[in-house]
Amino acid sequence: MYGTARAVRPTSPDGGRRWCPRGHDLTIGGKQAGYSHRHRLDTVTCGVCWDLGLPGASWCEIDPAEQHTEEQAPDVGLVLVRVPPAVRAGVGQLRMRLDGVVVADADLAVCAPCRRAVLEQVRVDEAHRRLGYGRVLVAAALAVAPPGQGYDWSTTTVLNSPATRAFWAAVGWPGQLGRPDRCTDMVRAVGEG
Ligand SMILES: [Zn+2]
Ligand SMILES: [Zn+2]
Repeated sequence: MYGTARAVRPTSPDGGRRWCPRGHDLTIGGKQAGYSHRHRLDTVTCGVCWDLGLPGASWCEIDPAEQHTEEQAPDVGLVLVRVPPAVRAGVGQLRMRLDGVVVADADLAVCAPCRRAVLEQVRVDEAHRRLGYGRVLVAAALAVAPPGQGYDWSTTTVLNSPATRAFWAAVGWPGQLGRPDRCTDMVRAVGEG
């Protein structure tokens, strides 16, 4: 069971990976590159965590910008699927599929002309929690509407639980939290949808 439920991290934008999740500098502690046939993704193992026998020493790396359509997404491995909204500035979805089964998803609304984006909710199946799937979905959302291209992000109401606060405190969220800042196009789209 532990071998199949492996942690996953979004690839670094610059291509390099300097730190393990525990904060070990991989250039000093060493790392091992590998491949997960289960997930069809490259893996990285922290040399220090591995030598100390710490759980989570290995993780998969997934490119958050590589988003498939539902039809074209591979049926094997762990993949990101993007379902576009039915109407412009409406609510679309990002999904993580493992062997064709949705294990995590996030709703998002994006308006390109207004440079506005709202993350509606991030949901991860019970069996796949605490493995980084939520973080990957957030990275995928930011890849759709990059803050570097002027997008202002916000979220809908965020549950005030320790687990939820821990998630948002660790994810490097660049926008407003818990208060959606919808443009008029988004409001109109919700009315049409
Ligand atoms: Zn480590
Ligand atoms: Zn708009």
